[in-house]
Amino acid sequence: MKILKGIFNLLYPIKCIKCGKPGNYLCPGCNQTLIRHKNNRCAFCGELSRNGQSCPDCLLKTSINQVLICFEYDQETLKSLIYLLKYKSVRLIARDLAHIYFKELVKLIKLDNPKKTLITCTPMHQKKELIRGYNQASQIAGCLSQLLNLPFLPDLLVKIKPTKAQMALQNHSARKLNLKNSIKLNDKYTEKNLLKNKTVLIVDDIMTTGATFLECSKILSGSELNQIIALAFARQFLSSKTKT
Ligand SMILES: [Zn+2]
Ligand SMILES: [Zn+2]
Repeated sequence: MKILKGIFNLLYPIKCIKCGKPGNYLCPGCNQTLIRHKNNRCAFCGELSRNGQSCPDCLLKTSINQVLICFEYDQETLKSLIYLLKYKSVRLIARDLAHIYFKELVKLIKLDNPKKTLITCTPMHQKKELIRGYNQASQIAGCLSQLLNLPFLPDLLVKIKPTKAQMALQNHSARKLNLKNSIKLNDKYTEKNLLKNKTVLIVDDIMTTGATFLECSKILSGSELNQIIALAFARQFLSSKTKT
């Protein structure tokens, strides 16, 4: 195992992917040069709003109260980080991403009662997870839960049918349709009142149209939650070209 780890470290040494400085996959200096997402609009319709709060109109359609995002996706460094996390099994990147989330976004989250708050992630179908080895959103969410000292329920939501990659679909309705009936609440959390009055933070790596978050919130909407806050590392817009 140690030999395998050694080979792995040789292939993907822990160094900043932008400047090569050892220690982190994104060093603090290069982190500062990346373009931040402003979080000054409703993530679903684009109306101006404070700290990514959903606007009153969108709150009629979703139970997500707030969406917070760290970066704009269309930056080479960001794309490389997420590519390594998703496709090259560099799971330690999740730790660095969680630290950035923690420092950047935590001050924008107002938790009424941290004792009644928990973290989960957007789910991945079991087959896909077996092939990839892990759900990258779960990796980030797990690290984040340690930093925030909040309970982590990685299996709160379950993907019950495989779907096409959202990235392959170029409009919101196709993405919404792709996810329809694909997610359910894990049976072990359907017990009466288990989630009642809780705040749930749902973590994902990239948000595009928000279809995944919306589907997750739909599943959670019957659980009498206090609020749902969606956290994404990067925001990608459909007009942007993507290589990953
Ligand atoms: Zn650097
Ligand atoms: Zn809105």
